[in-house]
Amino acid sequence: MFEVTVEAGFSSGHYLRNYQGKCENPHGHNYKVFVTLIGDALDETGLLLDFKLLKQVLRPVVDYLDHRMINDLRPFDEINPSAENIARYFYLQTRQQLVEMTGGRVRIKDATVYETDTSFARYYE
Ligand SMILES: [Zn+2]
Repeated sequence: MFEVTVEAGFSSGHYLRNYQGKCENPHGHNYKVFVTLIGDALDETGLLLDFKLLKQVLRPVVDYLDHRMINDLRPFDEINPSAENIARYFYLQTRQQLVEMTGGRVRIKDATVYETDTSFARYYE
């Protein structure tokens, strides 16, 4: 199998509802997200997916969250903007676009969101 991973970053505010502790208050993170794709067939160029294309896929998702209070944005006005839920959001958004782009040749493996250098959450199915 082949895998490719790209990294993106955004700086946003959030707070956790139903949480006792520092994270119940609004604060910011310099988030990093890593999205990994997987597949067993390359294209005619020898690529699983051009890194440039994968970055284009992530761009609107990153732009949607960047420099915003994530709690104000759907679906995080209803579900907590935890690293876990943000990772799932990237996973689902990317999966949808990949199906349209590659017709199933390339699948998303996982999405990982770092809130800090030492704390991250990962989502996969
Ligand atoms: Zn936080």
